[in-house]
Amino acid sequence: MNNKTLKRMLRVARPELTSLSWGLVFLVISSASALAYPQLMRWMIDNVLTPKKLDMLLPVILGLFLAFLVQGITSSLRYFLFTMSGERIVIRLRQKLYERILAQEVSFFDLNRTGDLMSRLSSDCQTLQNAVSINVSMGLRNLGQVIGGLGFMFYTSWKLSALMLVMIPPIAGAAAVFGKKIRKNSKIFYSVLSEGSTIANETISGVRTVKSFVQEAAEIGRYRASMELALVYVRKGIVATTTLMTVATIFGLGAICYVLWYGGREVILGNLTSGDMTQFLLYLMLVAIGVGSLGSLWGDFMAAVGASERVFDIIEREPEHLDVGKTPGHIQGVLEFKDVRFHYPTRTDIEVLRGINFKVQQGQAVALVGSSGGGKTTIASLLPRYYEPTLGQILLDGEPIHEIKLGWLREQIGVVSQEPVLISTTIEENIRYGKPEATDADVAAAAQAANALEFIRSFPEGMKTRVGEKGLQLSGGQKQRVAIARALLKNPKILILDEATSNLDTASEYLVQEALQRLMEGRTTLIIAHRLATVRNADNIFVIQNGTIVQSGIHDVLIADKEGLYFELLQRQIH
Ligand code: ADP
Ligand code: MG
Repeated sequence: MNNKTLKRMLRVARPELTSLSWGLVFLVISSASALAYPQLMRWMIDNVLTPKKLDMLLPVILGLFLAFLVQGITSSLRYFLFTMSGERIVIRLRQKLYERILAQEVSFFDLNRTGDLMSRLSSDCQTLQNAVSINVSMGLRNLGQVIGGLGFMFYTSWKLSALMLVMIPPIAGAAAVFGKKIRKNSKIFYSVLSEGSTIANETISGVRTVKSFVQEAAEIGRYRASMELALVYVRKGIVATTTLMTVATIFGLGAICYVLWYGGREVILGNLTSGDMTQFLLYLMLVAIGVGSLGSLWGDFMAAVGASERVFDIIEREPEHLDVGKTPGHIQGVLEFKDVRFHYPTRTDIEVLRGINFKVQQGQAVALVGSSGGGKTTIASLLPRYYEPTLGQILLDGEPIHEIKLGWLREQIGVVSQEPVLISTTIEENIRYGKPEATDADVAAAAQAANALEFIRSFPEGMKTRVGEKGLQLSGGQKQRVAIARALLKNPKILILDEATSNLDTASEYLVQEALQRLMEGRTTLIIAHRLATVRNADNIFVIQNGTIVQSGIHDVLIADKEGLYFELLQRQIH
């Protein structure tokens, strides 16, 4: 375990200082009483049993019972305090991890897949939980027992003890070597395991695609392969743990035989009493059991350190800051792109935007058109700063958006996209998502304006109808209108409509189009459209191709240029 991991552990343990300190007090008391009874045994053998003093027997046994009583109670208290602290630490870590995952910028989620993040939250945290709660508590008890036991062994017969010391280097060496192995394998094991969760996650959430291509067997095979690989690494870890346990046990038991031989001679030669010898053996057994279980606990602990690295990697990652920067007093909604160049962080070799320049006045509706893959959605995703431009600037009311407070900026922008994602709850809660304090009347009014009220009322449960995961239980047009109502209630100054009607049939397109028209009133709007009929009335149209604006102007001007891309796109759609 390196310094960094230790520091991290200490930092998360700090709030538990009081509880852990009390735990430590009880640990000392319980270990002391556990260590007292070999003393009592020796005393009983040498002063009661050997001299055959019957009247002394009961008081000595009562003393022994008292030691057990104290040990029983204090070790329960110790267990409770350490275990509870551990659980609290891990619960806090889980919350922190979740908080940090959500706080990451959008490109983080391009790099890290859902399944991997989910498995860090579930199985990695679980391993950590076992380690810090049960293992630390048991580990400390065993450590106390080993240290105290060794002390008493020296006190009883330093000569015998000194000979025992030769055992320490091989055991410690084995612990270090195998510990490292276990940690390394545990880290790999967890990433392979999370590979499996990712597969399961993608397959289950895309189950319709899997079934339609009859790929169940292939997906099961993919999952099985990753589980088998996980087994390989977990096996390596277990082999290392078992080897460590074997080494520790053999050395421990070997030591006992050695003491029986050497100590037995000393007793026969009269250099040691039988009581001394029994006491020494009892301590040695305490120590040997302690060392043995420390060996296996050390293995678990190292596995947890491996898991913790995966958790801390994310907890310590710099999040995006929602509340840093300026909050403009009021917003007009003038947008400007100045020489914006951009490539995705995951694909640095492909420049997606190659010098985009345009300006949108307050309240204007401006369209971005062009063939698919040109970069239209990318332009839209730079506005809420899901990504930062590589070069150039984006201005809102003349202010560079990277200087504006991120939380505020995003509140001013509403997006309705081709595939609106709803939360798997009721229609009502979905509409209210951007503005939790909205009244029922507000929600109904938004639904009305979005042409959604009628279909919502036709459901037996009305607004309380559940939409299913990702809104799967609604039709495309219905989902779209719920998304519009949601955007209406949020009341943003800037609106992005990204192919909002492309997926719909003519009947629902009409209803959605009408709702969008209401939504656009008084807002600066970027309409990304594929079907040119929908952008006829735009105040300005930019034709995007391969990351640049190749044409701009209003519809009537653009169609006049028979050589232009706009004309060509239009021709393609008519025929
Ligand atoms: P449009 O909306 O005009 O169809 P996009 O802006 O979605 O085009 O895509 C522009 C280019 O950027 C495409 O080549 C696409 O493959 C790429 N791209 C889109 N999203 C990402 C992403 N998250 N990571 C990497 N590349 C992306
Ligand atoms: Mg697009």
